[in-house]
Amino acid sequence: MSLSLTQISQRASELRNLLNKAGHAYYVLDTPFIEDVVYDKLYRELIDIEKKHPEFVTADSPSQRLGGEPAKEFVTIKHRFPLLSLDNAFNVDELNLWHQKTIKYLEKETGRELNSENEEMVGELKIDGNALALSYANGVLIKAATRGNGSEGEEITANVRTISSVPLCLQIEDPPPWIEVRGEAFMPNESFTSINLDRQLNGESQFANPRNACAGTLRQLDPQVVASRHLEFIAYSLHLPEDWSTNNENLSRPKSQWEALKLLKKYGFKVNPENQLLKKLHEVELFFSKWETQRQMLPYATDGVVIKINVFSHQKKIGFTQKAPRWAIALKYPAVEVPSKLIKLTCQVGRTGVVTPVAEFEPVLLAGTSVSRATLHNADRLASIDLHSGDTIVVRKAGEIIPEVVRVIQELRVSNAKPVEIPQSCPECQSKLFRGINEAATRCINPTCPAILRGAIKHWVSKGALNIEGIGTKLIAQLVERKLVKSIASLYKLDVSLLAKLERMGGKSAEKLITALSKSKKQPWHKQLYGLGINHIGETNAKAIAKAFPNISELEFSSCNSPELIKPIYGVGSEIAQSLKQWFTNPNNQKLVEELKEVGFSLADEQEDIVTNAKQEGQKLQPLIGKKFVLTGTMPSLSRSDAKALIEEVGGSITSSVSANTAYVVAGDKAGSKLTKAKELGIAIINEQELKSLLTIPKELL
Ligand code: NAD
Repeated sequence: MSLSLTQISQRASELRNLLNKAGHAYYVLDTPFIEDVVYDKLYRELIDIEKKHPEFVTADSPSQRLGGEPAKEFVTIKHRFPLLSLDNAFNVDELNLWHQKTIKYLEKETGRELNSENEEMVGELKIDGNALALSYANGVLIKAATRGNGSEGEEITANVRTISSVPLCLQIEDPPPWIEVRGEAFMPNESFTSINLDRQLNGESQFANPRNACAGTLRQLDPQVVASRHLEFIAYSLHLPEDWSTNNENLSRPKSQWEALKLLKKYGFKVNPENQLLKKLHEVELFFSKWETQRQMLPYATDGVVIKINVFSHQKKIGFTQKAPRWAIALKYPAVEVPSKLIKLTCQVGRTGVVTPVAEFEPVLLAGTSVSRATLHNADRLASIDLHSGDTIVVRKAGEIIPEVVRVIQELRVSNAKPVEIPQSCPECQSKLFRGINEAATRCINPTCPAILRGAIKHWVSKGALNIEGIGTKLIAQLVERKLVKSIASLYKLDVSLLAKLERMGGKSAEKLITALSKSKKQPWHKQLYGLGINHIGETNAKAIAKAFPNISELEFSSCNSPELIKPIYGVGSEIAQSLKQWFTNPNNQKLVEELKEVGFSLADEQEDIVTNAKQEGQKLQPLIGKKFVLTGTMPSLSRSDAKALIEEVGGSITSSVSANTAYVVAGDKAGSKLTKAKELGIAIINEQELKSLLTIPKELL
């Protein structure tokens, strides 16, 4: 979708406004209102626009500034030299690009070709905290400052003195006249959780993440409060006077980042033990992927790794941009939430007629895959996120699998945007859509709606149901569109010559399909029942129901007349009983049952005869064979002897005391010490109702 110059300029201005507001909330107020990854992506979008259209760069663009302004409550101090940010890479390709560019700078400065493979780097974890600059004079901490806007920060020495991992004096004799150490102050996860819990209990607002909690803590006016919050500090850079040298070989001036980290340790600073010297580019990738998976185990939050060219003389040659060193890059972990732009809302009609709104948006990379659509579930969800045409939305992969729209970024909404709603009529058959009172779902109730029919057939032929091979989505669509099939039963009236004429079908595939259809009539009763696609009846419930009712006539009779016989079936409750009643009282379904019988379905348990025979021969079905039961307390309707008889009838036995071998303790009113013992041993405790359900459990479920 190509945009006009006016639209691009308008988008740049919207992005600037939003990013500036977000930056203020983040850096100054410590209360971000958008996620970091979303900020990063939108920032990238702005930079891309500014690169292509430098005429749209304005002085107030976040690309022209670093960090936030120092807070007024603190004295502002100028940094000895700027405290910069880091450029970001969001995947290994971007890392490789950074590496190539860096080597090119180095080659340009040295005037010779280099073997890029041999450039040493240091890998460090990017702890999600706040950069601090610590100044020491003759080995004593004299000043500590935040990064602020990069050239000036807030002087917070009294607060930093309370952080136990910040040495107040360097642990060496004869220290340099001054040193500046930079590193990350952070709040460990444990402190973060307990502080937020306290704040919740005190009715205070919670910190969004450990980084904001740390920033808020460092800005406390009372150092006692800072001390109580257990911040930590890890050092990652050391700056020494140009003219300083020492005779102590052990403490000599470092020539590389790796040596500097070792020296910092000797001075008494905490240095991250996970830092690693990386000799080849592929080692960087390994370092990154290792911490991408293992970072959950760290006691603090990280948002990526920082890769730095190791040798200082090389760093010097590679140099800096206005905002960041060129010789370092922050390789951030893949986003789980990213922004995108809504293209349109489409609606899918499922086999039960439920209409699901789906947001279609500009493709984004989420957890390694390109995603361009996400379900919005129903009209309530759609209304709750307040979606408008052309909205910028935040999408994520829930549980790393299903994409979902988290929310809309209202600040980026265009002025004439219209609310997006589920249409009044079915997108497939144009009949009026219906939404019941107190119902979340909007439905198409037209029984001949092609979408419902396609869904019903797809379900009928699926693996869990009739498992009919050779009939996929495209063939189903053709059959329905050409009106060759009007119900699942009419699939069985198709013939080879008719099928063979369809797209992508030959005589052989047609023959195979007819054979598969015919074979499907022998599928067990519970699969046929599941295939009917009755609301709320999944494979497991279908098995339990089919076991209790050996044919459709008995099931229909009970569903319509005695639902109390259905509800106690294991796993089945009143919702399913209600759903069965609804299904059987619908004349279209009654017709379908007749049609299925006509084409050769028994809709009954073919094994029923065997069962009956077995019963007649005096053999009992004993699904609970070998299971030991203990009875305790008084049951509402069953006497002890009735319960015992019922249990024994299905193969169980009754014992008087609870042990590790007890399968179930059936507890009634005023249950005594047996119940306590069962709880101690973790034995399953059931009531009378559950016992009754258990007695109807199909054997294969036990
Ligand atoms: P950054 O956090 O991406 O990277 C720079 C920082 O990394 C340094 O200042 C330092 O504090 C830290 N760091 C951690 N370990 C380090 C190491 N081993 N070596 C060097 N530095 C290390 O950049 P930034 O400029 O501090 O902040 C920009 C980021 O802040 C954005 O990318 C965004 O994610 C976030 N931000 C979010 C919002 C929001 O509204 N959510 C707003 C503004 C900024």
